[in-house]
Amino acid sequence: MARINDNYLKLKAGYLFPEIGRRVKAFAAANPGAQIIRLGIGDVTRPLAPAVLKAFHDAVDDLGTSDRFAGYGPEQGYDWLSQVIIDKSYKPLGVELKASEMFISDGSKCDCANILDIFALDNVVAIGDPVYPVYNDTNVMVGRTGEADAKGYYKGIVYMPFTEENNFVPDLPKEKVDIIYLCFPNNPTGTVASKDELKKWVDYANANDAIIFFDAAYEAFITTPGIPHSIYEIEGAKKCAIEFRSFSKTAGFTGVRCGLVVVPEELMGTTASGEKYSFNKLWNRRTTTKFNGASYPVQKAAAAVYSDEGWKQTKEIIDYYMDNARIIREGLKAAGITCYGGVDAPYIWLKTPEGLSSWDFFDKLLSECHVVGTPGSGFGPSGEGYFRLSAFGDKEKVVEAVERIKKKWGK
Ligand SMILES: *Cc1c(COP(=O)(O)O)cnc(C)c1O
Repeated sequence: MARINDNYLKLKAGYLFPEIGRRVKAFAAANPGAQIIRLGIGDVTRPLAPAVLKAFHDAVDDLGTSDRFAGYGPEQGYDWLSQVIIDKSYKPLGVELKASEMFISDGSKCDCANILDIFALDNVVAIGDPVYPVYNDTNVMVGRTGEADAKGYYKGIVYMPFTEENNFVPDLPKEKVDIIYLCFPNNPTGTVASKDELKKWVDYANANDAIIFFDAAYEAFITTPGIPHSIYEIEGAKKCAIEFRSFSKTAGFTGVRCGLVVVPEELMGTTASGEKYSFNKLWNRRTTTKFNGASYPVQKAAAAVYSDEGWKQTKEIIDYYMDNARIIREGLKAAGITCYGGVDAPYIWLKTPEGLSSWDFFDKLLSECHVVGTPGSGFGPSGEGYFRLSAFGDKEKVVEAVERIKKKWGK
């Protein structure tokens, strides 16, 4: 008798995006002439930078030659990729890393999920609310939680509200926790944490032998000087933090697939018998056993992101999205709508006007402006009354959507 992993039955059905799809489809069917603009997506839309595309093509050609053919590479990724990321992206921040502390992968979603392999089940986990759902659901899947309550909070997880009152940087938990998920710049709120705010978390983690999982998927979108791009810019973070990065949003790799995890050598956990043990060693063991490396052409393309030409072109694409974010932000403000984010992240988190619920605002925005966004309540109970707009769209469409919103809500 093959028994299933019953923990999966505790998961709530993936409700948010199917429900959005259903409502948009119904509206489009009833209003065939409506020009619907979609600002709900969390996916990039611009093509790869030409220099990155060329490196990708060249690497594929390598595979067709006998002298440049590449088979299995190192499970941890090629050193030439880790080293260029360290030199071009971490060193300028004043962060020194060794290639042995960096593990190249096929994306951050898998990394955020897989990292749980090297942590005992009885660790207490703290997760943001609202949040990127992967952190929550993967903890349910491994069996770290009980059932969800009516609000959607799982028993055993400590939820940290991201609210206007705390400036979207959560307060330290009252109970002792062992693992803390932080994502800055944040999805869905688009907000960031200052060095001082992150220091508070690093100090907490070091004082409590806790580990921070720092998701930096949007670090390349930071425009404000002084906002940390990496948790390791904070003193003491190498003793308590694992960092995740992705080429997905930075360089348009959502379909190409490449990410990385940094596990510093100083990072220690505790064994059942109370001794200290290296998480880097454990993650290396896990990686070499369960993964055979990101594909060779993908790693070549990723390295080209950090070439002079590749970065110049990639940065132009990021600037294009961030100009969209500015247009949305300024448009909403002109319409008298309170909003956050959109300065250091490609998401704008708006407070629904007239006290509407997230889903009522969704329906109103769709029926009256023909614009689609994402209800904040879909990311967690504290997202109720908020709404996410994404800057990953076509400029003309973003401008048009903002004009419609201004016409509807502007005075
Ligand atoms: C998009 C995103 C990622 C990146 O996921 P990939 O698997 O690398 O595409 C990671 N974290 C957050 C919060 C994201 O929004």
